[in-house]
Amino acid sequence: MSNQPILDLHTHSNRSDGLDSPAYLMTRAKQLGVDVLALADHDTTDGWKEGFDKAKELELGFVPAIEISTHSDIMTVNGSRRISVHILAYRPEQNHARLVHELARTRDSRVLRAKRMVELIEKDYPISWSEITENIRPGSTVGRPAIADALVRAGVVEDRSKAFESILHKSSPYYISEHSLNTLEAIELARDAGAATVIAHPLMDFPAGKSVSDLPTNHFEEMVEAGLNGLEVEHRQVPEPAREWLRAFAESHDLFTTGSSDYHGVGGKVNELGENSTSVENFRRLLAASSGSDYYLPAGLEWL
Ligand code: AMP
Ligand code: ZN
Ligand code: FE
Ligand code: FE
Repeated sequence: MSNQPILDLHTHSNRSDGLDSPAYLMTRAKQLGVDVLALADHDTTDGWKEGFDKAKELELGFVPAIEISTHSDIMTVNGSRRISVHILAYRPEQNHARLVHELARTRDSRVLRAKRMVELIEKDYPISWSEITENIRPGSTVGRPAIADALVRAGVVEDRSKAFESILHKSSPYYISEHSLNTLEAIELARDAGAATVIAHPLMDFPAGKSVSDLPTNHFEEMVEAGLNGLEVEHRQVPEPAREWLRAFAESHDLFTTGSSDYHGVGGKVNELGENSTSVENFRRLLAASSGSDYYLPAGLEWL
């Protein structure tokens, strides 16, 4: 046993756009030597129970979480620009009425949006909405990966990533965006539900060569005022110059930092379980900042 435990705090199951069932995800994490796993499906808590029960059976640490889809309007020199921000909410109350309502609203809008995208795509490629919905379970969250999988099944593209680079890309004529919560409202709501909040893969679109003086510092400060607790700095999509800036920002605003894989299953994304880890000290801060639902730590890891 290594003395540095592996704490992977951002993974997806097939309750959103991951490929593994929650139970299989836990099994695979255990096999790969992960010590604590957080299940953070997009806009749903549907996989929590299955994940929690399996983790307990395997004596794997488990933290229930949600990756909430949100948007912010950022002021730039060229006017205002809408960006998508993913907020990781750790240990929110599962039955918090307003959170339940808002998540359902986002999921419903995601279904409509996916359906409209498919209506555009099926004019040019052999996919259909009915074939896609056959592969989706109630309560789970639909995203572009479900359309990507249909394009793979139809032989149009080789894998999910190829679909995201072409037909499903944000700049593609087939792309439509979904309704989502405002970022600051989402942070306040998640905090109200007893969650610790962390920005997932912050600044992942930070262009190489751009100066850190161009970063939206104001927006980060507003998020802190709304109750933000942490930043997911160690994530493969966060560029190195951005990481330095984020670490310094976390330090000066008393935020913790996390490291995670954002695993979506083998073939879902290249991200592998346990490829990044959160430190014990930061994990303790995350637990101390959250109280809405139970986590599980096996005997032997209770010292965490
Ligand atoms: P959507 O939420 O519908 O806009 O779809 C974007 C989501 O697809 C992101 O949360 C990504 O994590 C996920 N995704 C899964 N596989 C891939 C992939 N191969 N390339 C890009 N994004 C992916
Ligand atoms: Zn995803
Ligand atoms: Fe994300
Ligand atoms: Fe994610």
